[in-house]
Amino acid sequence: MRPQVLFPLFAQVTSLPGIGPRFGKLLEGLCGPHVADLLWHRPSALIDRSFHPKLKDAPAGVIATLTVTVDAHVKPYNPRQPYRVRCRDETGFLHLVFFHVKGDYLLRLLPVGAKRVVSGRVEYFNNEIQITHPDHIVDVAEAEKLPAIEPVYPLTAGLPLRTVQKAIAAALSRAPALPEWTEPTLLAQRKWPSWREAVTALHAPASEADMLPEVPARERLAYDELMASQLAVALLREHTKRLPGRELKAPGALRNKAIAALPYKLTGSQRQASAEIAGDMASSHRMLRLLQGDVGSGKTVVALIAMLDTVETGAQAALMAPTEILARQHHATLSGLAAPAGVSVALLTGREKGKVRDALLDGLRSGETRIVVGTHALFQEGVEFNDLALAVIDEQHRFGVEQRAALSAKGKGVDILAMTATPIPRTLMLAAYGDMEHSRLTEKPAGRKPVVTRVLTLERREEVLAAIDRALAAGAKVYWICPMIEADESSIEIRPRPPTGSGWEPAELESVTWWHQYLKERLGERVGLVHGRMKAAEKDAAMEAFANGPTDVLVATTVIEVGVDVPDATIMVIVNAERFGLAELHQLRGRVGRGDKPSACLLLYSSLDKLSEVAKQRLAILRETDDGFRIAEEDLKLRGAGEVLGTRQSGLPEFRLADLVAHAPLLQIARDDARLVLHRDPELTSPRGQALRVLLYLFERDAAARYLRSG
Ligand code: ADP
Ligand code: MG
Repeated sequence: MRPQVLFPLFAQVTSLPGIGPRFGKLLEGLCGPHVADLLWHRPSALIDRSFHPKLKDAPAGVIATLTVTVDAHVKPYNPRQPYRVRCRDETGFLHLVFFHVKGDYLLRLLPVGAKRVVSGRVEYFNNEIQITHPDHIVDVAEAEKLPAIEPVYPLTAGLPLRTVQKAIAAALSRAPALPEWTEPTLLAQRKWPSWREAVTALHAPASEADMLPEVPARERLAYDELMASQLAVALLREHTKRLPGRELKAPGALRNKAIAALPYKLTGSQRQASAEIAGDMASSHRMLRLLQGDVGSGKTVVALIAMLDTVETGAQAALMAPTEILARQHHATLSGLAAPAGVSVALLTGREKGKVRDALLDGLRSGETRIVVGTHALFQEGVEFNDLALAVIDEQHRFGVEQRAALSAKGKGVDILAMTATPIPRTLMLAAYGDMEHSRLTEKPAGRKPVVTRVLTLERREEVLAAIDRALAAGAKVYWICPMIEADESSIEIRPRPPTGSGWEPAELESVTWWHQYLKERLGERVGLVHGRMKAAEKDAAMEAFANGPTDVLVATTVIEVGVDVPDATIMVIVNAERFGLAELHQLRGRVGRGDKPSACLLLYSSLDKLSEVAKQRLAILRETDDGFRIAEEDLKLRGAGEVLGTRQSGLPEFRLADLVAHAPLLQIARDDARLVLHRDPELTSPRGQALRVLLYLFERDAAARYLRSG
């Protein structure tokens, strides 16, 4: 249960003064539903109000705080005109300008003859000084209450800065003193303030320098956040370790048959990964291992080996894929690979219905079916296994923790092998999973030809089309990737003009349907289309027509990003490549170069001079290397942790105070600290342990805290 001391921080934001349902909703969207979420909303800039000039010395464009006397109210002739209040000091005049004024509140706020301190951005209009909607208007007696420096926050439409500032100030006033959870020597060594001092300082920067990630207050809060997450993963890990696992020891007769029948030799890293997996499976602990490897690095056969070992012990194995297409593809591949071992592979997706489905379910229930490949359908109700012992999860980031849990609940002590083709940089790996066991496939299978990568401007598309024509004549298949489905997804206008051969200039960003039309005009009916808004069956049909049918050029969005394997595809064109992330481009490029034929990836960007420095570096890195792990590290450096892989989809946690690039050393310390603490005080019952429980709840690691026995 959440400690009582935190209750004020977990009240709804609408409990704060001035925050009704409307602002509450906007604040929730901006930062989160609770008072604590406001505390984590960091200022992005400052306003300095310390400039107090006389009117004649106030330059345009600056923020000034002026002491003036109210002269006259100039009401508008018509409602579209602003309401003006003329003020003066001994050096000149100033107009305060207000739009949409209702009632007479300005007469009360600025009575004629009164002295007022006003602050806002100075403008010149018809050679007169004015301030439109001053940020502050106060009586001279209250002038010292005006903040000299004000934090500016990221906002959202409809939510004024003043409202956010006030809400955060109110949230801060509710921040309780919390017990100290940080290890005392670390605290002293780093000169970190207490938690409450630190959040207060976070929202009261006195200069730009105070907003850097390395100031003690921010470091402390970043460390708190990292410590909470490291403690949570460590607790989860301890908990998992205590769960009874099964000792699956297979002599290896089945896997040897399958390996002997492979047309190639396993790479060193495939063999090593297999050995690591076999070790986990044989131990009495429950396995939770992540198998990382670039697209095409050969994860499938590693998964197969683990599944055959499972079958050999008499148990069942399941492989879950995120999409129907991928499930079917895995099913086809695995069936072929497992056949020499005399093992057949079943397929269960949402599409298997009626008698077929009944027979499948019977096979799983009786244990006759030993290996099954499927989609989410695998863990639905009504699916029962005789003895599920291994669950392989492909593209694990596409599944939530609950889905993984639902699948393992279909058996007893189920070992889990999660696979991903999205290499995760070490820092992120540590941040997300602590010390989760993982194996990496770092070698490319032998005989793979590197993909030639070229970076070109879109203006050279005629050359590209000519090259494609030649390649098509030689039997190649081509992917043509665009960043979006419809142009109206962005602010760019769609110009409804028919594509008319050459001579046109593409708009800066054309839609996938537009390119489809255009390429069809140039290359004929052999051009297909697939994007995320199509129905699943339409998508499958379009993919199928490309893999095995009449489509030779597939115009697509990133829906083809993961998994799908069309060995004949040797050319990948990516238009508006500057719009994609590095990891994403790398994933896309991995779709070609899967067979033994030479392949090419053409990155077309819309215009060089508009290309940002970061976009240029991204494209340069791609040209330089094909190593997914290196690319992931570079991506992290270029984009910052928040955006790498798109944290939301990747299942990686989002940090609000910690910056995984700037605070990477703190992450290491937190990892070691979390382990040490749990080693000494596994149930967190000591005074520091109790304080750490508060920390867990403060960062909403409630689920992890529940693994602790009550205390
Ligand atoms: P991933 O799932 O990691 O993207 P796959 O398992 O689909 O990669 O393998 C990609 C291709 O490489 C497949 O066609 C597979 O047959 C082939 N392959 C796998 N391992 C090897 C190897 N050791 N040597 C040669 N080819 C391999
Ligand atoms: Mg795969």
